[in-house]
Amino acid sequence: MSDVIVLERAVPGAEASSAAAGMLAAQIESRDDAELDGYVAAREAYANWAASLRELTGVDIGYRRSGALSIVSPEGLDAARRLVDSQRARGLRAELIDGTAARMVEPELASGVMHALHFSDEAQVDPPQLLRALSVATSRAGVVIRGGSTVSMLLTEGGRCVGVSLDGREILRADAVVLAAGSWSSLVPGVPDELPRVRPVRGQLLMLEERPARLGSIVFSGHAYVVPRGDGRVVCGATMEHVGHRRELTAAGIHTVLGNSIAIAPRLGEAEFVRAWSNFRPQVATSDGSPGAPLVGRSPLPGLFLATGHHRNGILLAKVTADTVANAVTAAPPR
Ligand SMILES: Cc1cc2nc3c(=O)[nH]c(=O)nc-3n(C[C@H](O)[C@H](O)[C@H](O)COP(=O)(O)OP(=O)(O)OC[C@H]3O[C@@H](n4cnc5c(N)ncnc54)[C@H](O)[C@@H]3O)c2cc1C
Repeated sequence: MSDVIVLERAVPGAEASSAAAGMLAAQIESRDDAELDGYVAAREAYANWAASLRELTGVDIGYRRSGALSIVSPEGLDAARRLVDSQRARGLRAELIDGTAARMVEPELASGVMHALHFSDEAQVDPPQLLRALSVATSRAGVVIRGGSTVSMLLTEGGRCVGVSLDGREILRADAVVLAAGSWSSLVPGVPDELPRVRPVRGQLLMLEERPARLGSIVFSGHAYVVPRGDGRVVCGATMEHVGHRRELTAAGIHTVLGNSIAIAPRLGEAEFVRAWSNFRPQVATSDGSPGAPLVGRSPLPGLFLATGHHRNGILLAKVTADTVANAVTAAPPR
């Protein structure tokens, strides 16, 4: 029996992790100093991780320090100045630039943009490639990946999680069980009631292809983002919708994402439409409705560990989450 078994009802990366835009947008996405420090550390860990995954597996995960612009409205200028001051005080590269300077960074930016924040260290990966690399790397490390295996129950004995039941037909016992079911985490029977709920936030995205490639920088507006892969492909996203696990792409969703993306970089209107898709960010519910922090590490139930609730930043936080969970599992007292 392998030491580590991944149980996945479909195939690894079937859901949010392959669907993500792949931004490592630590400085744009963080909401406070603690989050900023954690996110920046996670982003910085990617350079070495990408190199070692490539060496180990031969798969290029598309890690690029492409930098990011975040468009600032006239009403947002004061907040943008404060953000630059506080990030610079922590030794990070951030600047508030006018529209002319922003178009020097990204010539495709719309002419109406008057100000933007520029974060030259923000980066990106290509999520489907990351998932391919991780499948190869984990298999080589002896991890068994069992696709098509739905966990139908967490098994508890004497106040401890001791394994799982698969489709009610097979029982697997384990010293440690890690709950990593993304936006379905709260739906797994046997999950302790006291854990915060993880709920799905649907995002609709689409891919365009420019020929030749023009966009170079990630660009956020208040309403959308564009993520150029560097080879002509541009991922445009994304809606934020509380509609449960409804997967459909909607006319309004695609219309909004396309319209807002073309407003960022008008020549995207000439690009080829390649495809659109949707998936679910796993968001930790809180009493005031704001997204809660991810659930990572030990849980109230001995034997059960958590790696879920990463909402908009699960790709960014993938490696630090894995490290934290591995440390928690190895540090836990044995049965
Ligand atoms: C539109 C969109 C854009 C995003 N963009 C970014 C981005 O740019 N940068 C970033 O850092 N993050 C981004 N994210 C967030 C990121 O994708 C998620 O936070 C992360 O992928 C969540 O990973 P996960 O493994 O928890 O969930 P998932 O990738 O959804 O994996 C959970 C897995 O559990 C399986 N599962 C569920 N229930 C069971 C069961 N009972 N038994 C067995 N298997 C089960 C599912 O099949 C699924 O494969 C984005 C997300 C979306 C939706």
